[in-house]
Amino acid sequence: MFNKSLFSTGFESLKEREVEQKQKAGHFNQGLFSFYVPDGGEALMRFLTEKPVSFMAHTIKVGKAPRTFVCTENDECMGCKQSDSYDPSKPNRASLKVAFLVLDGREVEVDEKVDGKPTGKKKVITDQIKIMVRGVNDAANIQRSAVKYGLTNGTYTCFKNGAKNPYNFEREVGCPPSKDAKFWSQEPLSQEALNELIEKLPERYREMAKGEGGLYEVLCSQFSPYGETATVEEPVGLKRL
Ligand SMILES: [Zn+2]
Repeated sequence: MFNKSLFSTGFESLKEREVEQKQKAGHFNQGLFSFYVPDGGEALMRFLTEKPVSFMAHTIKVGKAPRTFVCTENDECMGCKQSDSYDPSKPNRASLKVAFLVLDGREVEVDEKVDGKPTGKKKVITDQIKIMVRGVNDAANIQRSAVKYGLTNGTYTCFKNGAKNPYNFEREVGCPPSKDAKFWSQEPLSQEALNELIEKLPERYREMAKGEGGLYEVLCSQFSPYGETATVEEPVGLKRL
């Protein structure tokens, strides 16, 4: 006999279980989109945080998307108790990650919404604040750029050639003609430009960004241990370099 309590019937309970699963995984903490460059792709970008935030992390798929969770590095860690999302026969091992807040200069087409409801039309958006999480190989590339040029005082093109290759960062010269020089010149962002970007953040991050912790606090608030929800405090295990 199958175990009846493990199954639910009907679309409504399906929806409920979906929400439950996402909440369990702390999905709702991941308020900002991830900065991602596909193989063979490139993206105009700007670092908004100069120093990397590093932590031991679990990559766990929530639905189809891989998400980053903080490993608490103790027996309580729920992430350590999960299986590897890509090879379920193995445990989910934590690995060292670095995270930055970045500005993504690519244009993307999204569904237009008014009061949260789709209008059926499309619109093009750009210059979005995103989180970039990378492993140690990429961190070495980023550090090279940081030492040579500094990260936040200009813009970069980030590109990736091949699945196993890390992200590479090439310093831009000048502002691309199609872009707003306020955000994409080879100078540090003005306070005015930064404020304009902060206004584009979801509401709950705006005050955080203007507060003492600034953009680093917004960045750290994006990560929590697996299984925990809705925390804006700095998660355990997160270290600032
Ligand atoms: Zn762990």
